[in-house]
Amino acid sequence: MQISFATAPGHPGRPNEDLVLAGPDTVLVLDGAGLPDGTATGCAHGVPWFVRTLGTELLHRALDGTRPLADCLADALAATARRHGPACDLAHPMTPTAAVALLRRTEDRAQWLVLADSTVLVDLPDGLRAVSDHRVGEVTDRQLRDLAHRLDGLPAADRRTLLADAQRQAMNTPDGYWVAGPDPAAAHHALTGTAPWPDLRSAALLTDGAARPVDDFATTDWPALLTLLQDTGPQSLIDHTRTLEHTDPHHTRWPRTKTHDDATAALLRP
Ligand SMILES: [Zn+2]
Repeated sequence: MQISFATAPGHPGRPNEDLVLAGPDTVLVLDGAGLPDGTATGCAHGVPWFVRTLGTELLHRALDGTRPLADCLADALAATARRHGPACDLAHPMTPTAAVALLRRTEDRAQWLVLADSTVLVDLPDGLRAVSDHRVGEVTDRQLRDLAHRLDGLPAADRRTLLADAQRQAMNTPDGYWVAGPDPAAAHHALTGTAPWPDLRSAALLTDGAARPVDDFATTDWPALLTLLQDTGPQSLIDHTRTLEHTDPHHTRWPRTKTHDDATAALLRP
């Protein structure tokens, strides 16, 4: 299999909290949850450390190839929680978290897993399947409606903080959404699927920052985005996304909290 990928921070000079890792027959992308500047997390390490640690723990287990992907993720989350150590308060509501997308070949099957706001595209004989976990966004939309009376008139920074607080209260709860954080149980709420490996024509993994042209801007659709990836490569998709974002610097056409987001795209060809 051939895997190509690109990743870019939302802003030059700020850490990229996305991560992409690949090995034989396996590729994964992680997207560390960004928080408003200055937010206390209870973690002595920070979001980039969390993403690197979880990513390497997960790749290590996924490469073994014998256990279901959700079990690999649960074990990787438990191992990462142990590696935080006693200096970190994992019960802190703003503890580091990440979205995860993973695709693996195991003998004659393609297997994938998606947890939180990320996407796996699998191109199969019956059409292109887009596996996106939009539960975070659905909860956020609900909270925006519920909190509208409190958000009105607040400065943008205070709105972000209030929303971030509300979002975290719904994290890893049955009525909320699931994300890779300190609770290994979240792994078993991931979206998973398989297909015969010989049927797979191509696949892609995207963090939400690279899925914006479809998910947030609706300027294209998944088949066209996959074609762009295949024809011009992952960096071109990120460049295309940045070009769109620059046309709307004040977020009027496409309301969003960040002009640019960390963006990662991986393309896999069998
Ligand atoms: Zn920590």
